[in-house]
Formats: sequence, C-alpha cells, structure tokens
Amino acid sequence: MATQESNVTVSVSTMKDMLIEVLKEARKAPELTEAELAELESAQSMRKERAELELARMETRRQEQEYCTHMRQGIYAGTTSAVYVENGNYMICQQCQKIVRPDQEPALFRRLQGASGTSNF
Ligand SMILES: [Zn+2]
Repeated sequence: MATQESNVTVSVSTMKDMLIEVLKEARKAPELTEAELAELESAQSMRKERAELELARMETRRQEQEYCTHMRQGIYAGTTSAVYVENGNYMICQQCQKIVRPDQEPALFRRLQGASGTSNF
C-alpha cells in the first residue's frame, strides 16, 4: 500500500510572513533600565492610589445616599430635594445625587415624586 505524503503549498510571501512572525516571537523583550523600571513602578503605584481614592469616594457617596432622607429642611421641610428628570424618567436628589428609578425603587420613587409637588401621576 502506497503512503501518500501530504504536501502543503506555501507561497514565498506567506513563507516570508511566517518567518517574520517566528523571528518576532524569538526576539526577547528588551531589558529595562533602572530608571525605566522605577518609572513603571511609580506609574503602577499611582494608578493603584487613584483607584483606591476613587473607591473611597464611591463609598463616601454610597453612605451619603444611604443616610440622606432626600428631604429638605427648614422652611421647605416636607418637600423633597429630589427633582424629576423627564427625559430619563427618574428622580435625582440634589443633596446626594442619588438617582431613583421607578423600576428599581418604585416605593421610594412614588414617595419622592409625591413630595416633589410636581407629580403628574
Ligand atoms: Zn438624597
């Protein structure tokens, strides 16, 4: 029984591309100088610091929103500091910036809208 060798035909330009790819792969990453390494490290720690600050900021806001009654004080007591945003169909508190959507927090949404004095519902 004759065994047939399977031959693959590759064009010269494809062969060239393949060789270039192989050479690219084989090339080692250049050694970083000490200054470059230090720069890289400081950039990384700066990114980390920024991310931590952002997290802390988000946590503070979350707490503000949790404790905010979204109601006004003083002579406006009994009315909400939330306003209705028609094109987005939500209420936003002007004190804590919390966004209340009717499909996510229907009870709170109705309460705020009722207290806003602008209810059309
Ligand atoms: Zn609020």
